[in-house]
Amino acid sequence: MENIVSKLSTEQYEKNFQELHPPLTYGSALAESSRCLYCYDSPCMKACPTHIDISEFIKKISTDNLLGSAKTILKSNWVALTCAKACPVAVLCEGACVLNEKGDKPIEIGRLQRYVIDNYFEQGMPALFDVKPSNGKSVAIIGSGPSGLACGAELALLGYNVTIFEQSDVPGGLNTWGIAPYKMRKQDALKEVELVKSFGVSVKTGTGIGKNITFNELYKNYDAVFLGIGLGESNALSVKGEELSGVISALDFIEQVKTEDWSSVPVGKKVAIIGAGNTSIDAATEAKRLGAEQVIVLYRRSSQDMSAYNFEFDLAKKDGIIFHFLTAPKNIIGKNSVEGIECIRMEPGQPDSKGKRSVLPVPGTEFTIPVDMVIKAIGQEAQNDFISSVPGVKFVNGKIEINVENYQTGNPKVFAGGDCINGGKEVVNAAYDGKMAAHGIDKFLCN
Ligand SMILES: Cc1cc2nc3c(=O)[nH]c(=O)nc-3n(C[C@H](O)[C@H](O)[C@H](O)COP(=O)(O)OP(=O)(O)OC[C@H]3O[C@@H](n4cnc5c(N)ncnc54)[C@H](O)[C@@H]3O)c2cc1C
Repeated sequence: MENIVSKLSTEQYEKNFQELHPPLTYGSALAESSRCLYCYDSPCMKACPTHIDISEFIKKISTDNLLGSAKTILKSNWVALTCAKACPVAVLCEGACVLNEKGDKPIEIGRLQRYVIDNYFEQGMPALFDVKPSNGKSVAIIGSGPSGLACGAELALLGYNVTIFEQSDVPGGLNTWGIAPYKMRKQDALKEVELVKSFGVSVKTGTGIGKNITFNELYKNYDAVFLGIGLGESNALSVKGEELSGVISALDFIEQVKTEDWSSVPVGKKVAIIGAGNTSIDAATEAKRLGAEQVIVLYRRSSQDMSAYNFEFDLAKKDGIIFHFLTAPKNIIGKNSVEGIECIRMEPGQPDSKGKRSVLPVPGTEFTIPVDMVIKAIGQEAQNDFISSVPGVKFVNGKIEINVENYQTGNPKVFAGGDCINGGKEVVNAAYDGKMAAHGIDKFLCN
């Protein structure tokens, strides 16, 4: 589609996409670190899926030992810059901070972590970890998202010869292409790829397994394989008019926004977003920041059922996004391009066996909203075709089944982690999975 809104000035785009959580200064980092109570048995550390020793890294900031602090963070989490900037800290570490119970502001753990890791990259990634001598074994990793990177870093330090195969020309997975630019820019994700490469990991981009190389070829040439393939395409709406110009998937739209040549990203004046998860909120706020005049989120269930975090919902409301709950799309209207969306009101039905209420259309309540762009954000499909081509791997309810002890799939030589095993969670979960799978692989190959 053509870009319908008038282009904004470069300054205006930069202002619209400026960081939500700017970096701390030296003084503010020291002051913030001194507020930490360094709790014994820290609840923040337990709340972090990668179990970073948060008290220890904050203590090291207060004594100006920033590289020591970076080592504490990185040994638990190889994508610590992404997590510092994009983790939902309000529901993880900061949400668990004991200061909340005292009615105080929690420690800004995310921003302190960013302070330390920014410094680490500014210092040129000094060597903090020893790489063990080669053990002669090789592991192939499919996917360079956070799970693949974490698995690769950990295995390389243990002495494995690691190659990451990435189908895209630019590595980093959704850290590079998905996370909203007002949280982090593409360049941050690429720094983390460089860190993993500095341990000797080879990253082959533009190499899709199942496309450029068959899975079997990889399987026979490596001692083990890790699947960090994430999820696939956005789900289809399956309504009339979905093929019209102006209808786009949230992932494709967000990927365009991440190129950061914002003036070239097509966006409508009136945009409808279908779905109310975190990806939908990102697409909505990004469309607004590109200059859309009106952005409406349509969700067939009620506000209590939406999967987006409260803080993301608040951000969208602050950006002026309009929400229509209990509203489902029926048809997208237009000749060649989108002119409107026909919707129908929904009402809650009976709860199912798990207590989740169904929703039912209310006959005769159809209405049309004039829009010139529709963004589909109703989740991502699993990579069914690829996964079914991997012998022995079990695929249940859209997730690869693993042994939770060691991340091994039904095929003993194949391990998996990240979105492809959990159906789509956060970067921090993928980072943890990749690391734990590396230890599963190490046990399998060396013990
Ligand atoms: C729009 C969006 C915004 C998000 N924002 C946040 C956020 O703010 N904070 C947060 O914590 N989480 C966020 N997430 C979730 C987070 O990005 C994911 O949970 C995380 O990236 C999953 O990591 P992964 O390694 O499993 O997969 P991915 O990051 O998806 O990486 C998978 C990689 O595998 C590659 N690949 C797939 N198949 C093949 C193949 N056959 N051959 C070679 N390569 C292949 C892909 O190209 C991709 O690079 C967001 C997700 C989306 C969709």
